[in-house]
Amino acid sequence: MPDHATPDINVAANLAAVRQSIAAAAKSAGRCAADVTLVAISKIHGEDRILPALEAGHRIFGENRVQEAAAKWPALKQRYPDIELHLVGPLQTNKVKQALELFDVIETLDRPKLARALAKEMARRQQPIPCYIQINTGEEPQKAGVMPGEAGDFIALCRDEMALTIAGLMCIPPIDEEPALHFALLAEIAKRHGIENLSMGMSADYETAVELGASHVRIGTSIFGERKA
Ligand SMILES: *Cc1c(COP(=O)(O)O)cnc(C)c1O
Repeated sequence: MPDHATPDINVAANLAAVRQSIAAAAKSAGRCAADVTLVAISKIHGEDRILPALEAGHRIFGENRVQEAAAKWPALKQRYPDIELHLVGPLQTNKVKQALELFDVIETLDRPKLARALAKEMARRQQPIPCYIQINTGEEPQKAGVMPGEAGDFIALCRDEMALTIAGLMCIPPIDEEPALHFALLAEIAKRHGIENLSMGMSADYETAVELGASHVRIGTSIFGERKA
């Protein structure tokens, strides 16, 4: 193989390996592997990588851009009607309508304006879907998410005033910090507010996330290989 060629990626084998690691991490934490949902993050990748995952029986995927998802997923959803698609990237209010036509779960609810737009559009469609609130656990200025200190007020706004279904919390820890601290903080905020699900853990740190209670891990690279933007 010439050295500029893409190395062969065996998506089905990668999926199986990731599932095994999740099961091992769950077991070592005294948890049941069935309580951890694998969200396969397929951003940047095309059908050549996504179809093998579907053929292997996987149905839960995540994308971070509405536009890209709109180009890739409607055809796949027709072929595989039981696909569950999660939005894991920032959502602009002017894309809410399109997002709700495509996605089954919004993981990145992070501001009142977006909460209002989602509530209004879900009411219009008479089709509410679960939302996760993204928490900026590292309080990074450039990163999306609600600051931990403001989580309580925002959760109350979403639930009580907007009547949104807050199914979980989500975080993306700072790249240069110990992720365990951030996962533990997310778990604590969820517990304090009686929120069930925790979307946390990516390719580099999902075992730690599972040990700290993740209900959903979002894994791209370990399944689909490196992304070439
Ligand atoms: C890309 C992405 C992931 C997956 O990251 P990997 O390191 O490739 O596993 C998870 N969550 C979000 C929000 C992402 O944007």
